Amino acid sequence: MKTLLTFTLLTAAAAFAAVPRQPNIVFIFSDDHAYQAISAYGEARKLLESPNIDRLGKQGVRFDRCLVPNSICGPSRATVLTGKYNHLNGFVNNSNSTFDPTQLTFPKLLQKAGYQTAIVGKWHLISNPTGFDFWQILPGQGVYYNPPMIRMGEQIKLSGYTTDLITDVSLEWLQKRDKSKPFLLMCQHKAPHREWAPALRHLGADKDRVYAEPPTLFDDYANRGIAVRDQDMTLEKTMNDRDLKFVAPPGLTPEQKKEWDAYYEPRNAKFRAANLAGKDLVRWRYQRYMHDYTATLRAVDESVGRVLDYLDQEGLADNTVVIYASDQGFYLGEHGWFDKRWIFEESARTPLLVRWPGVAKPGTVSKDIVSNLDFAETMLDAAGVPVPAEMQGRSLRPILTGKRPADWRTSFYYQYFEWPAPHHVRPHYGVITDRYKLVHFFGTVDDYWELYDREKDPHELRNVLGDPAYAATKVELEKELTRLRKELKVPETIPPSWLGRQGGEGQKKKQTKQK
Ligand code: CA
Repeated sequence: MKTLLTFTLLTAAAAFAAVPRQPNIVFIFSDDHAYQAISAYGEARKLLESPNIDRLGKQGVRFDRCLVPNSICGPSRATVLTGKYNHLNGFVNNSNSTFDPTQLTFPKLLQKAGYQTAIVGKWHLISNPTGFDFWQILPGQGVYYNPPMIRMGEQIKLSGYTTDLITDVSLEWLQKRDKSKPFLLMCQHKAPHREWAPALRHLGADKDRVYAEPPTLFDDYANRGIAVRDQDMTLEKTMNDRDLKFVAPPGLTPEQKKEWDAYYEPRNAKFRAANLAGKDLVRWRYQRYMHDYTATLRAVDESVGRVLDYLDQEGLADNTVVIYASDQGFYLGEHGWFDKRWIFEESARTPLLVRWPGVAKPGTVSKDIVSNLDFAETMLDAAGVPVPAEMQGRSLRPILTGKRPADWRTSFYYQYFEWPAPHHVRPHYGVITDRYKLVHFFGTVDDYWELYDREKDPHELRNVLGDPAYAATKVELEKELTRLRKELKVPETIPPSWLGRQGGEGQKKKQTKQK
């Protein structure tokens, strides 16, 4: 009898060991977090020490070429949920798109597979979240202090700093979850989105250091078409008084406002007395921008630390996949810009760090072309759920293990629609490879192509389309672009509404100042 019992127990134990437990998944997503401002990426300016995000790089894989198909907020989020391009998931711009909540998303599939699912923080897809057992989101863009939130359809108001609150709510949900089930937590920050408003405890945390300038801060936009010259996203002309902290953000309590003013007022007074102009004024704006942007990220890094510590304390870390990414890249003064939208490197590239114990090789770096199109497929793969054929990305598992498949993508299709407001960036699409970018600006009176060679021109300052030395390259890239458009089911022509509220052919330039 005793022998039989031992045998039964052993068999049960062996069976348990043979079936791997579905891992938990924590997806931490920030808004407009440039890879240039993550110390794990080792950017030359050393803008920010981010020890907690860096932990994920040390214990997992850092991706150096994670590209988004459309470098703005809502479209990127729709791609993450569906694993599809925006021309198929329907969320093409931030102006007049609404996410169709009935379509297939990876959280719905995880739910079916027995996962508890939650999303907390920035959502920005207009319709209410579906596929989540729990959701608490910021309405629209959200605010940085004392934010209203929507909790399972109910409007509530919270007190405190939004990044901290999103973390608190995320951890509370983890505490209260059904511990017999695996979980998906999507912890999605508003930070460091414009207007880069820091937690009050982080004001002055960088001790007024002087940040190194990017080499293209004073880009003259020569050797390129009208699109780069005619945008509205410069530090020089577009930044407004709220961006520059001459006006405090809404929603501060009198005590918070006092603390805010104590930091900004003396600095603003010094600025006014200096009466700066021209390049000196742009330099000052760059410094203010970097102080605020990096200070805002300090709370995000702390939040990542709190979540990772929780996983450690609860003994969950070994069976939890942790993904850190942003919805796109961001300009931190490169080309004289802030914002995103372009096919160019700083905006199309988003940070991505993945810790997956037993799968991701700790401390490795991938230069492969991956995308937020791959996130849904990766998480489904982790859960052992088959990836639906309609999804257009691919699980990152082989890349994470260091075994890049021979047929991994070597080119990437990019598309941007929103025009003319905000920021007046012309609609464009194109193909990105390791070395080149072929771009077609369309949908306005100016319809033209550009070609960039990143190997010879890493800052993308010279359009070489007309250079005979690139004639063969141009033909090859055109062929690849045609192939990709067909494979990805890109429509030949697009409805004018995809350009946004004021969309349409031949729009006249309309200068806009985004509040
Ligand atoms: Ca964004």
